[in-house]
Amino acid sequence: MTTPRFTFVLAVLASGVLATGLAGCSRESGEVVTAADTVVYFDTATRQTIPLPQRAELPAAHPETGRRTLVRARYCSQCDQWHASPPLDVLQRDPRARNCPQCGKPVSSDPPAEEPS
Ligand SMILES: [Zn+2]
Repeated sequence: MTTPRFTFVLAVLASGVLATGLAGCSRESGEVVTAADTVVYFDTATRQTIPLPQRAELPAAHPETGRRTLVRARYCSQCDQWHASPPLDVLQRDPRARNCPQCGKPVSSDPPAEEPS
C-alpha cells in the first residue's frame, strides 16, 4: 500500500509550488488611491476643473472623453478662478510661471476654503 503515501507527497509538493507561486504574484504594483491623493485638474478642452485621484502622467486622460486634456489646476484667490498650471519643468525654469496668468499674483494649488453661500 504505497499509493496513498505517494499521493500525499505529491499533494504536499503541489501545494508548496502553489503557495510559492501565489506569494510571487501577490506583490502587484497596483495603484493605491486614497482620498488624500485627490487633486484638482484643469480640462484644457472644456476649461473646467475636475477633482481626480492624482495621476502620474500629465496631461492626464479625461475619464469621460479619454483624451489627454487634463493638467494640474491652481486657484487664484485674486481672480476667484481656476487656471491651468504650466508643466513642472516650466515652473522650475521660470519662477514667474507660478504667478496667475491673468493678474500676475502668486497662486496656490490649494482649492479655496469652502464658504457657505
Ligand atoms: Zn489671478
